[in-house]
Amino acid sequence: MTHDADIIVVGAGLAGIYTSIHADRAGLSIIGFDAAGDVGGTWYWNRYPGARCDVESIDYSFSFDPELEQEWRWTERYAAQPEILAYLNHVADRYDVRRHFTFGRRVASADWDEATQRWTVRTHEGDEARARWVIMASGCLSAPHLPAIPGRDDFAGEVYMTAAWPHEKVDFTGKRVALIGTGSSGIQSLPLIADEAAEVVVYQRSANYSVPASNRTLSDEDWKHALSEYPERRRKSWNGLAGSPWGSNPTRYQDTPEEERDAIFEESWERGGVLFSKAFPGQMVDRETNEAARLFFERKLAEKVKDPQVLVDLTPTDHAIGTKRICTDTGYYETFNRENVTLVNLRREPILKITAEGVTTESGARRFDAIVYATGFDAMTGALTSIDIRGRDGRLLRDEWAGGPSTFLGFGIPGFPNLLSLNGPGCPSVLSNMALGSEQQGDFALRLIQHCDAQGYTSAEARADAAAAWTAHSQELAEATLFAEAPSWYMGANIEGKARTFLPYLGGFRPYIERCEEVVDAGYRGFVLSSR
Ligand code: FAD
Ligand code: NAP
Repeated sequence: MTHDADIIVVGAGLAGIYTSIHADRAGLSIIGFDAAGDVGGTWYWNRYPGARCDVESIDYSFSFDPELEQEWRWTERYAAQPEILAYLNHVADRYDVRRHFTFGRRVASADWDEATQRWTVRTHEGDEARARWVIMASGCLSAPHLPAIPGRDDFAGEVYMTAAWPHEKVDFTGKRVALIGTGSSGIQSLPLIADEAAEVVVYQRSANYSVPASNRTLSDEDWKHALSEYPERRRKSWNGLAGSPWGSNPTRYQDTPEEERDAIFEESWERGGVLFSKAFPGQMVDRETNEAARLFFERKLAEKVKDPQVLVDLTPTDHAIGTKRICTDTGYYETFNRENVTLVNLRREPILKITAEGVTTESGARRFDAIVYATGFDAMTGALTSIDIRGRDGRLLRDEWAGGPSTFLGFGIPGFPNLLSLNGPGCPSVLSNMALGSEQQGDFALRLIQHCDAQGYTSAEARADAAAAWTAHSQELAEATLFAEAPSWYMGANIEGKARTFLPYLGGFRPYIERCEEVVDAGYRGFVLSSR
């Protein structure tokens, strides 16, 4: 049986939850699918030990309903995954979100029919649904990447991926564990795995920069203060460059007296995590400032790691600090001082193969009971290109994007009318607080739909020239910074064969919103609105 609705929403993470609540309020009928068993998106899947947010919870939460803000109490500065998932479940209950979604359904294809001006969406499980609009809230870090290491599937022990962690507790007590990958997920999980396991061997290909979270529980006093400052905090966040209330110190590094510079780095370090890339303005553009931040980091690292060779191996060498997302940890580097933790530097001894017993590198074989892959995602585009999305004249999105994605403001893709991508390539997404970002993305999409309905348009499609200009603008911004030099997932560099383009929009959260509003004010300039 084919179901019909105004919109199909793919994904029930932050963006899908927000969009379905507000589509419903706008009187639009919704069919939602998510491959997950329930709401939560990122926080449904990433249940690994130590998973927590790296944007403060008070900011990384919905802002659309002050009552919701006031009634939910975060227990820590950076809440752990179970608490964030509980929050999203609370939101889903409060606004009756689940009735729109069918869970355990992975969308396989979406086909545009010009004659009826409708999309037909099919799932791998056999569902078929039609709608005037498709909203892809399918996530930017939701297509896990499992590297094709020779012999990978021969391993006879337990295998885990941080990005698809079991729901029941994994007990590593007494076990020998291999951890492959030292991005944010590997860095968050290592200390907890090492607490339990008999032995952990960390396979590191590239050393990363990690800054302590300075996490803490929020006391009654903290919370009282947080509640009273919510309006001001939100105002700053909506007007900021990254959707959070924090900005850089106002004075450039070069204009700061030498004896005061370290105090500014220290303050930023204490603030914690990703915020360290904002110590000074221009830190991600100006090499001298960035280099000073790197040296500060190295001094901190040297205070934490006892073994000189491990210290060398943990020191990043292939990118400027902040050009891959700075990891936010709790006790990561200190974990390497433990007797039961060994670091293997894959730059010196690459993995040759995985066998039934364990992992073999150039210097020999190690036996394990479990392998944990913390090997990241086909970020920003993977969730979209893994679906057979066929637009006008049968154009396949995967083919259109073979040379890199092209979008107008992230939402619109030429040749794919009435398909709106949220948090996708071409919007700030991962470079900002994605809770507020998801609200902005959902609002823009719904306003466009309501505008079309009010004006009698049956389709909206991004113009090819508008998308090309936006994509070129986005690349130019990236190329003017140090980001463009790093082999990061922002650049598509973690996936073999993926085009190297800078995927998120680097122009800043507020400036991006302003560009979106200009487009709205100009009658959706850059989109072709038509009626059939
Ligand atoms: P997601 O939450 O990824 O939800 C997408 C949903 O779409 C998923 O449930 C998925 O199952 C579903 N889906 C995808 N493809 C299909 C398909 N074909 N068929 C059906 N369903 C499909 N951002 C921050 O701003 N702050 C943070 O602190 C932060 N921490 C993070 C921690 C981790 C471990 C990770 C991986 C990411 C983190 N992020 C953070 C980024 C995070 O992804 C976003 O904040 C946010 O959760 C994205 O919401 P979303 O709704 O766009 O996508
Ligand atoms: P990631 O940053 O892409 O890290 C993946 C790791 O796996 C890297 O160390 C990578 O090495 C390694 N790797 C990949 N393929 C490999 C191979 N074939 N052999 C050996 N090593 C391999 O992924 P992630 O840690 O899941 O984080 C992704 C993003 O999710 C983060 O940047 C962040 O935005 C978000 N996140 C946030 C938090 C948080 O603190 N809130 C936590 C987790 C994730 P190379 O570096 O050499 O490629």
